[in-house]
Amino acid sequence: EKAEWAKLKDAATVTADGKHFEIAANIGTPKDLVGVKANGAEAIGLYRTEFLYMDSAELPSEEDQFAAYKEVLEGMNGKPVVVRTMDIGGDKHLPYLPLPEEMNPFLGYRAIRISLDRQDIFRTQLRALLRASAFGKLRIMFPMIATVQEFRQAKGILQEEMDKLTAENIQFDANLEVGIMIEIPAAAVLADQFAKEVDFFSIGTNDLIQYTMAADRGNEHVSYLYQPYNPSILRLIKHVIDSAHQEGKWVGMCGEAAGDSVMVPLLLGMGLDEYSMSATSILRVRSLMKHLDTNDLPDLVHQALNVSLSNADNAKLVNDFVAKN
Ligand code: PEP
Ligand code: MG
Repeated sequence: EKAEWAKLKDAATVTADGKHFEIAANIGTPKDLVGVKANGAEAIGLYRTEFLYMDSAELPSEEDQFAAYKEVLEGMNGKPVVVRTMDIGGDKHLPYLPLPEEMNPFLGYRAIRISLDRQDIFRTQLRALLRASAFGKLRIMFPMIATVQEFRQAKGILQEEMDKLTAENIQFDANLEVGIMIEIPAAAVLADQFAKEVDFFSIGTNDLIQYTMAADRGNEHVSYLYQPYNPSILRLIKHVIDSAHQEGKWVGMCGEAAGDSVMVPLLLGMGLDEYSMSATSILRVRSLMKHLDTNDLPDLVHQALNVSLSNADNAKLVNDFVAKN
């Protein structure tokens, strides 16, 4: 098995019936590029920039951020790099940025909510990103978007930073794509409206499942409710994919589920375009996709969304299907 995977390192990701899908990698720092290349990722689907803030003793300067983003963009040689703006809060804290004491940090002051409030921090990051965009194919993604108004405000601030760079005669990619994570149920439900305004979606199942099931993703007492194949989650995902495609936009997934062997046949059947995962999962998933024929999948998806009542039933459904193929 491992020998077959190794042969797929430089291969495109194609299904048995010849359809191409994109497998991308999740990274936390420029150092992760080594694993990304060793495993043949076609893109970076999630660069979690909060590590830049967490590994620093103070707010990282525009220059420090610019250097890190440029290194990743140049390292990918023109392949797409989706950079997510700072996702601090929840369980991630910064010693130099005191956050309020909260009863429910995962429902509190976090990610884009901090960025829209602390625009000094947000604008510095956007400016570093825009300057780096001259060196590769950058896409910017906002985390934890709940409302269309939040997206418009974030995009408006990005536009203002673009205008400043233009006035200063500094190069950047004026056509870079701007998208959002779909990880709050409100955004998933309203995906048809969001799809008119964004360039792409990336579904964050780690948080989307926690918020949909109302079960803390780090609490072992409720870990049985982390149910990626629950029909409720699958229906939300399908709505997001269909809504994006209706408006001609692409949609990816960067939560753990994107590299899950049970989830992948269902996501392929729903037409998800991009699968972003830890680099060590890439060759396994590329091999799995190679053995699947998308013509066989609509029936599987129908069963999983409309007939099955549980996560466990769907795990069995997909495992039996894959074993027969
Ligand atoms: C997610 O929520 O699925 C995600 C990819 O973001 P993070 O795990 O960083 O919250
Ligand atoms: Mg998340």
